[in-house]
Amino acid sequence: MFVSDKALELVPRYRAFLEKYIIPLEQGAIYGSFRAHLPALQALRVKAKEEGLFAPHLPVSHGGLGLSLVDFASISEVLGTSPLGHYVFNCNAPDIGNMELMHQFASPYLQEKYLRPLERGEIRSCFAMTEPEHAGSNPVHMSTTAVREGDEYVINGHKWFTSSADGASFTIVMAVTNPLAENKYERASMIVVPLDNPGYRMIRNIPIMGDEGEDYLSHSEVEFVNCRVPVSHLIGTEGSGFTLAQVRLGPGRIHHCMRWIGICERALGMMCDRAIERELNPGHSLAMQQTIQNWIAESAAEIKASRLLVLNTAHIIENKGAKAAKEDISTIKFYVSDVLMKVIDRAIQVHGGLGITDDTMLSFWYRHERGSRIYDGPDEVHKSVLARSILKSRKG
Ligand SMILES: Cc1cc2nc3c(=O)[nH]c(=O)nc-3n(C[C@H](O)[C@H](O)[C@H](O)COP(=O)(O)OP(=O)(O)OC[C@H]3O[C@@H](n4cnc5c(N)ncnc54)[C@H](O)[C@@H]3O)c2cc1C
Repeated sequence: MFVSDKALELVPRYRAFLEKYIIPLEQGAIYGSFRAHLPALQALRVKAKEEGLFAPHLPVSHGGLGLSLVDFASISEVLGTSPLGHYVFNCNAPDIGNMELMHQFASPYLQEKYLRPLERGEIRSCFAMTEPEHAGSNPVHMSTTAVREGDEYVINGHKWFTSSADGASFTIVMAVTNPLAENKYERASMIVVPLDNPGYRMIRNIPIMGDEGEDYLSHSEVEFVNCRVPVSHLIGTEGSGFTLAQVRLGPGRIHHCMRWIGICERALGMMCDRAIERELNPGHSLAMQQTIQNWIAESAAEIKASRLLVLNTAHIIENKGAKAAKEDISTIKFYVSDVLMKVIDRAIQVHGGLGITDDTMLSFWYRHERGSRIYDGPDEVHKSVLARSILKSRKG
C-alpha cells in the first residue's frame, strides 16, 4: 500500500545486508559489549555507503536516498528486525529525529557544525527533555532553565532518559527561556549543547531491568550546572520548543512503529520455527497445538493490521501534514506498541525456558521494548487524545 517501486526494489537489498552482515554481530554487540563492536559496526556503515544504502531517510543532496516517509517506513520495518539495523544505516533514534528537526529549523551555522557530521555518521547526538522530578507525559512542567546573559545562555537543570547520551557529541536540550509567557506552550526552547561543555555532566547510565547498557544502547541521567552556550545554539526561535517537539514527534512515531513491526515479524518467524522444530512427542511438534496456532494466527493478523495502519498514517502525514493525522498518529502509537508486547510475549512463551535466556534476541526486546508503551507519550495519553477527538466530533 502506497509503497513505491523504488522502495520495493530496495527492501530485499536491505534484508540481504542484514542477514549477511548485521545479524551475525548481534549476540556480541547486544549481550556483550556494544562499544567493543564499534569498529565492526563502523566498517558496516562504510559498506552500507558503498552499496548506496546509507541514511535512507536523508535527501540525496545530503548523502541519503531521498525516500518519502512511506517508503522509508517500509525500509524501517526491515531494519527493525535487528536491534542493530537502524544504527548501521544511521537512521536510529534519537539521531534521526534530531536530523529531521535540525534540517528544518537549525541555522546554517548549526547545520554545518553539528548536523552535517551527524548525517555523515561521524558523531551521535541525544535529546534531553524529560526530568525525573516532573511528569514527562506533560512536559510543560519543567525546571530546567536557560537564562540569557549577554551572548550566552546559562543552562541549569536535571534530565533523565536522555537516550544514547553516552558517547554522544551533542544534545538538544529543552529548557525554559520565557517563564512569563502567558501561553505555557511558549515558555521553552531547544538549544544545542556540545557534551564536552564543562557545565554538562553525565551522572549515570540508568539500569533498565538489570541492563545498564553503554554507548548508543543506553539511557542516561544528566545534569547541566551553569552550562554556558552561545545564543547562536538556539534552534528556531525562543519559546518555540514545544512546537518543534511536535514536529519532531510526528514522523518519529512512524519510525518507531515500523521498527516495532519489524521486531514483531522476526519474533513471529522465530515463534513459527521453534513451534515446527520442537517435538512434544516424536512426530508431534508444538506447531500442532491449537493454542500455538492461535498465537501464530493472531500475531500475523495484528502485524498486518499494524502495518496497514502505520503506512496509511505515513501517507496522510505526507499528503496532508502531521496535524491532519493527529488521530491516526495517536492510534498507531498505542495500538502497535500493544501488538509488539503481545507478539514478543507469545514468542517467548513458545520458546519456553530458552525464551527468557539471552541466547536469542527475545529477552533483549522484552526488556527494552517495554518502554514502547511509555516513551513518545504513554499509551494512556494517546488513547485519551483519540477518544476526546472522537467525542468532540460527535458534538458536531
Ligand atoms: C526507553 C525510553 C527512552 C526514552 N528516551 C527519552 C529521550 O531520549 N529523551 C527524553 O527527553 N525522554 C526520553 N524518555 C522519557 C519519556 O519521554 C517519558 O518516560 C514519558 O514522557 C513519560 O514520562 P514519565 O516517565 O515521567 O511518566 P509520567 O508522566 O509520570 O507518567 C506515568 C504514567 O502515568 C500514566 N499517565 C500519564 N498521563 C496520563 C493521562 N493523561 N491519562 C492517563 N494516564 C496517564 C501513564 O500510564 C504513564 O505511564 C524515554 C523513556 C523511555 C522509557
